[in-house]
Amino acid sequence: MTARARTPEPFEPGLIPAPGELLVWKHHEHFDRWRDLPCVLCTKATPMRSHRGEPVHKVCAEGWIAAHPVQAREGRFASDISRKRGKTDDDHA
Ligand SMILES: [Zn+2]
Repeated sequence: MTARARTPEPFEPGLIPAPGELLVWKHHEHFDRWRDLPCVLCTKATPMRSHRGEPVHKVCAEGWIAAHPVQAREGRFASDISRKRGKTDDDHA
């Protein structure tokens, strides 16, 4: 654990999924392993965090986007920013 091979992924919001689509939350910053806090949407404890630091279940955030498509465009919940440019994972054409 001495040399850093690569810079850490930026913890920044990227695309806002369309209502009914899933958030991509892969960054470790989305997971607070030290404590659970009440979800801002369902009030049950969760270790998950939004980009803005709100404790929220990923599924609750996705449900909120589906229920509030207009407010969702303001970027309360967004997927992780993607470093891949011009590339997609699905090249099964
Ligand atoms: Zn929740």
